[in-house]
Amino acid sequence: MKFTVIKRSVKSCARAGLLETAHGVIETPVFMPVGTLGTVKALTPDLVAAQEAQIILANTYHLFLRPGADLIAGAGGLHKFMHWPGPILTDSGGFQVFSLARLRRITPDGVEFQSHLDGGAKHFFTPELVIDIQSKLGSDIIMPLDVCSAPDAPKEKVAADLQLTLEWEKRARDYFSRTLRLRSVSAVRESSEAGMSAPQALFGIVQGGMFADLRQESAAALTGLDFPGYAIGGVSVGEPEAELYRIAEYTAGLLPETKPRYLMGVGLPENLLQCVPFGIDMFDAVLPTRLARHNSFFSPGGLESILNAQYAADFAPLVADCDCYACRNFSRAYIRHLALAKEILAIVLLTIHNIRYLVNLMRKIRARILAGEL
Ligand SMILES: [Zn+2]
Repeated sequence: MKFTVIKRSVKSCARAGLLETAHGVIETPVFMPVGTLGTVKALTPDLVAAQEAQIILANTYHLFLRPGADLIAGAGGLHKFMHWPGPILTDSGGFQVFSLARLRRITPDGVEFQSHLDGGAKHFFTPELVIDIQSKLGSDIIMPLDVCSAPDAPKEKVAADLQLTLEWEKRARDYFSRTLRLRSVSAVRESSEAGMSAPQALFGIVQGGMFADLRQESAAALTGLDFPGYAIGGVSVGEPEAELYRIAEYTAGLLPETKPRYLMGVGLPENLLQCVPFGIDMFDAVLPTRLARHNSFFSPGGLESILNAQYAADFAPLVADCDCYACRNFSRAYIRHLALAKEILAIVLLTIHNIRYLVNLMRKIRARILAGEL
């Protein structure tokens, strides 16, 4: 993976770049739609590509539990299994173990947890296993196992979680490097058989909660390990927006200029506008697609609900100057009718709009960086 900053702002820390992966070149800053279970909900991969989304996310925890990493490897990797030819980033599953799984038990070696799915079978994630799972998935950018502190955890707990996270990230980095040659050889062998690919990049994840000194310690330790990219984790976990921005700006400033920076789980329009000037390059959020399934759509005036009575006989598009398929062809009145009748097409159209809206917004932001205006 290669990252090139092609323009640095003089007005802020914003930058425009190119992130080259085995499955395509990504123009940054970028918003990444989330396809937790190997599908961006409500859209075919063709429809995701039609919105010009450049990279999508999938989730290691969920795909490990169902349908299983070996099955996906048997299908030729996640790209082939889900028929998405572009870049994929997989989350380590750390966040889901702490937010979804039952009966977690953390040991120095890893985390034991009970699946949130039926049966509640017990599993044990180690830093090494999480690399192996993502290796089987074949995603382009992979994440190390981390410990996610509760947003209201006291500082001593967050500091202890950070120490363990740093140990796990070091183990993940060592294991990844040690097995890299082995995996490259098997990828080449399998590529001729099952279409499997390609080199992967392991990012580091900065943790440390809302504490600047812990963030500093985390960033210093991780940059010493020289990851090809850095994520800012432990945000968007219920903290006030002002705290999110404070930590995002502070942490971004601690990370190397030459590596991509990814703010995990953050991706509403106002977040992109606020955080790109901090020097963040990559964003993801489940909200744009989730909100669509709850009848909500982005507009320049903020989030709106299509169920609103004022749209009953409104034959204008969702957003006047939006070029998405939904806005080019359908009225608010029609989409509202579909939503009230619980027609699946309402969700499809609102999802198309919300993703396209963020893609377009990010494009405008990037153009302003390139023009020296941001
Ligand atoms: Zn639209």
